[in-house]
Amino acid sequence: MSPQATQTMRLVFLGPPGAGKGTQAKVLEDRFAVRQISTGDILRANVKSGTPLGLEAKSFMDAGQLVPDDVIIRMMRGELAGGESFILDGFPRTIAQAQALDETLASLSLPLTAVIMFEADRDTLIARLTGRWTNPRTGRTYHAVFNPPKVAGIDDEDGGPLEQRRDDTRDVVVERLGEYDAKTAPLIEYYRKTGLLVSVDGLEPIDSVTSAVLSAIDGPAKARP
Ligand code: AMP
Repeated sequence: MSPQATQTMRLVFLGPPGAGKGTQAKVLEDRFAVRQISTGDILRANVKSGTPLGLEAKSFMDAGQLVPDDVIIRMMRGELAGGESFILDGFPRTIAQAQALDETLASLSLPLTAVIMFEADRDTLIARLTGRWTNPRTGRTYHAVFNPPKVAGIDDEDGGPLEQRRDDTRDVVVERLGEYDAKTAPLIEYYRKTGLLVSVDGLEPIDSVTSAVLSAIDGPAKARP
């Protein structure tokens, strides 16, 4: 049985940049009453409007490095209080962030229902990220070769211009993947111990990954009503 539109889901999407977390989060957000909380999108919006948070985060983001834990944890506390169902896309990215998330969710009595690990090999990630075009207004992404928009440089949905993210250049991508290996990959073991971790193959076509995510959600979500 696939999840109902009203089913509560509190998910962490884990995996390296370019593995398809944001794409799948948007598919689920469109289909179910679930909010995508993307730390990357929130940070980029803050950089764009020049808030103190954006100014603090910008240099780290441009260099492909993680923004310090205290900044991210402060930012996320407010976001999490807002709802029953959510998909965390790009958070947590360190053990300290995962521990802070556990504490916050425990205090709100909102336990996670599943952690989805998106698997992908390094060469594919580099190819995906360096060919990626993003709608800066919605965060929706395309790929010049693998998932092109109908008209080059234009978003299919809102008809506005697409941009290449500053941190999707090759050098910065390599730095981001290094940060993932050093600081985020240890979360796989952290979440494996909770019994909530399920892996999906991020290299499959978008629809197949969605099906895999939905069956993954059904498993742990059922076990923890
Ligand atoms: P993303 O859009 O998820 O690839 O994130 C873009 C950039 O935002 C990352 O390379 C980091 O600089 C920063 N960032 C996003 N989420 C986090 C996080 N949970 N912890 C630290 N930095 C983050």
